[in-house]
Amino acid sequence: MMSGAQPESAPASAYLGAVATLATMHDKSPLIGPAMSAAVGMTVQTSHVDTDQLGTFTGDIARPGNAWDTALAKARLGMTATGSKLGIASEGTFAPSPSLPFIIAATELVLFVDDERGIVVGEAVTDCTVATVVADVRPGDVIDELLVRARFGEHGLIVSPTIPSQNFIYKGIHDRHVLDRAIRECAAPSPDGHAHFETDLRAHHCPTRRPVIAAAAQRLAARLTVCCPTCATPGWGIVRVERGLPCRHCRRTVLVPSADVHGCPACPCERTEPRTGTEFADPVRCEWCNP
Ligand SMILES: [Zn+2]
Ligand SMILES: [Zn+2]
Repeated sequence: MMSGAQPESAPASAYLGAVATLATMHDKSPLIGPAMSAAVGMTVQTSHVDTDQLGTFTGDIARPGNAWDTALAKARLGMTATGSKLGIASEGTFAPSPSLPFIIAATELVLFVDDERGIVVGEAVTDCTVATVVADVRPGDVIDELLVRARFGEHGLIVSPTIPSQNFIYKGIHDRHVLDRAIRECAAPSPDGHAHFETDLRAHHCPTRRPVIAAAAQRLAARLTVCCPTCATPGWGIVRVERGLPCRHCRRTVLVPSADVHGCPACPCERTEPRTGTEFADPVRCEWCNP
């Protein structure tokens, strides 16, 4: 190619023109593809591999390992299917928010694997606005308020008996008649006469997850355009947060974030960047001054 033949608007990225395989059964390509294309110049090709074999949210297939390991295993499934050296996958985790225990925090991780460079780069976004419900209900119970909280219709539900069962599990329910029938059928084998009812968290049934996945993909795309100052490998970004500042009042150490450590996915190079305005910790956060 002649030098200067690339359009001015093309991103100056190590992955310009590259094709990565996205492993998903859950229609994540519109959430991840556009960010990779716009910021990185990389094309995302979907591989519809069975990512549920790595575990499901409903627990009917146990999920091994943490989100990073699961996303990595998913990406590798896609890469094996297409023979690509570049893979992408995402994984969501749902847990009570550390600050607001009655609110479920969704953390969406998007991971990129480059087997040519031998690197894995991930970015995550946590959000507390994903609609989630969990309840045990009997046939005929008034569940309208629950369904409003679940944003039912737009969001899917899963219904199962209150005892573990592989046979009676209804997923992706968006219709009230189907829901009522599933509650009746799942309550029947349950010793307590209830059916277990929860949000179907798969991305194609849970629209409030989708912008969170897209936000994580945008962070990942931005990170892939930043290269290590030592070895020029793409994927430079925050690898951990340092904690510990003297309390402004008593000078004892308070474990608040003090600095971001940026690092390279390929070499040991790291740079510590203190957070601005963090000479002292607010005494409100100090367990001695504000127990
Ligand atoms: Zn203090
Ligand atoms: Zn490096």
